Amino acid sequence: MDRKQIIPKELRYTRNQFDNEFPTDDACLEQIKEQRFPGGVTVCQKCEAPRKHHRVTGRTAYACAKCGNHIFPLAGTIFEKSTTSLRVWFQAMYLMGSTRCGISAKQIQRETGVTYKTAWRMFHQIRKLMSEDIRLGGSGSGVEMDEMYHGGRRKRESGRMLLADRGKRVTVSGIVERKGRIVARISKELTVAATNALVKEYVLPETVIFTDDASGYRALPRVEGMGYQHKRINHSQKVYVLGDVHTNTIEGFWSLVKRGIGGVYHSVSAKYLQSYLDEYSFRYNRRDSGNLIFPAMLRRVSELASSQPLQ
Ligand SMILES: [Zn+2]
Repeated sequence: MDRKQIIPKELRYTRNQFDNEFPTDDACLEQIKEQRFPGGVTVCQKCEAPRKHHRVTGRTAYACAKCGNHIFPLAGTIFEKSTTSLRVWFQAMYLMGSTRCGISAKQIQRETGVTYKTAWRMFHQIRKLMSEDIRLGGSGSGVEMDEMYHGGRRKRESGRMLLADRGKRVTVSGIVERKGRIVARISKELTVAATNALVKEYVLPETVIFTDDASGYRALPRVEGMGYQHKRINHSQKVYVLGDVHTNTIEGFWSLVKRGIGGVYHSVSAKYLQSYLDEYSFRYNRRDSGNLIFPAMLRRVSELASSQPLQ
């Protein structure tokens, strides 16, 4: 079935819409300017007062209406130092945002006509937009936490991992709200200390945390000042659901991730695994917004730029 047909109209963002909205580099620049300085109005560094700024022809700059001082909407964004046309960047973002399971740098190369090197670079820069800093759960609500292993054969028949493989293996910890958002982070090992630190960073106080009986989770109720409740399901005794105690949501996400690694990207090296997880999480966290991922990515461009100091 073609998924596009079941996306409600208001949650669709078609290629036609994209082409109409962003026909030129100028239109793309105008978009970034509007996001960062709505109406072109911002405090002029020279006048030290809010001023209207007008586009400077032939440059990616806008000039103060009073004194002519320039502002650069692309400063601090992923586009800043690039010689690739802004429209090609937008196109690549649109492509990455409108597939369900991700596309490769190779596909960006084919669709936009840039070199593979450029496509690859854009691909990784755009992924940076998809890394988010969010907190999950909250008083009385539940999150599931689980781990996934990447690289290295998981276990030999005896149930123990081959020693030689341990070094190659990467552990990924995931925390997910049921019917909500996800955070997935690479961690070195599933120790109590590492797990507690991760949870403290990403899970709000008073949350109920569902896990399996892996030993790394055993001290969650004792994370200082957080008041977590911990409910465990005994996977080691082959129990998978007990009332509301299960980790099915996070396991669903892992299979999505693994399918993507196998299908779209063929393999993902440990070096790029985190950005890969970020991309999947970003999409997962917006799974109810149809294919409006591209507008969400655009917003991230200015959000990330604003968090950088102005030069
Ligand atoms: Zn001025």
